[in-house]
Amino acid sequence: MAERVGFIGLGAIGRPMAKHVIARFGGLVWNRTPERSRRFADETGATVAPSVAALVEGSDVVVTCLPTSREVREVVQGTERQWRSGQLLIDATSGDPATSREIAAWLGQRGVSFVDAPVSGGTSGAAAGKLAVMLGGEAAAVARAHPIVETCAAKIVHVGGVGTGDALKAINNALLAVSIEAAGEGLAALAKLGVPAAKALEVINASSGRSNVTENLIPERVVSRKWPRTFRLALLDKDVGIALDVLRQTGVPHEAIGMAKQACAEGRKRLGAEADHVELVKLIEEQAGVEIR
Ligand code: NDP
Repeated sequence: MAERVGFIGLGAIGRPMAKHVIARFGGLVWNRTPERSRRFADETGATVAPSVAALVEGSDVVVTCLPTSREVREVVQGTERQWRSGQLLIDATSGDPATSREIAAWLGQRGVSFVDAPVSGGTSGAAAGKLAVMLGGEAAAVARAHPIVETCAAKIVHVGGVGTGDALKAINNALLAVSIEAAGEGLAALAKLGVPAAKALEVINASSGRSNVTENLIPERVVSRKWPRTFRLALLDKDVGIALDVLRQTGVPHEAIGMAKQACAEGRKRLGAEADHVELVKLIEEQAGVEIR
């Protein structure tokens, strides 16, 4: 019999992911702000669960996509009476390994399996069903999660035990933060020397300094001056913080990532909760007194 899949969290990335999952499996959705789930249901024909408890009750597999592991723990432990043996929780949040292990242990006592399944590829990757997904969990749970995750992924990797998907995702996003800072600073300096961004990027993107930041984010968001808001800086700051914890716990030097963490924390304070991660470049431009165009 087909799995009944429920999706919790219709935010910037959860929403396009849920579209794919629900199109393939049907099932229930729930979002804290009901207006968002109503709009989603109008557009997709999905069924909105009357409460998060009803969603857990009515699903074999639950997918969560919330800001941090704290909200996941809150939702999971707040529906204690609804969880039953044989269910699976797939957590697509970019979570922190320690809290994921705690949630997995709590659910495990109730016979429920847990897989951390953070994603990369942004809202456009999610809309296209082309995310990269890193799975942490036991082989059987990961195998069960596969067909559900496949609906929105181009790349799925089983990384290791619970929490390893989260650790890898955090490191990936720490690299993203370092790249944004480095590219912003470098291009601002070149702009001050009178080198247009298009010319600088033409060379960098054919050279060893290229990255997703220089190939996509800077041209599409900074040079265009469009500054779309798709991934909140506050969430990137959270991810880099998780990465720093991983580096500290493993006794690895963390100078570059430590600096990126400071920039994210400062940027989050100055730009506010809704600012996009690429807006970090605005602060570099402001300080340098130049625009990257
Ligand atoms: P958003 O801030 O857009 O959405 C967050 C979602 O969580 C909303 O549905 C929100 O509900 C819900 N939520 C927040 N607090 C609670 C709570 N206490 N209880 C229940 N629900 C809650 O975040 P994103 O969708 O961008 O990100 C979700 C996760 O995915 C994060 O971990 C992020 O790091 C990760 N991610 C995001 C990417 C992106 O490009 N945006 C890319 C890759 C990973 P409400 O509608 O009520 O606010």
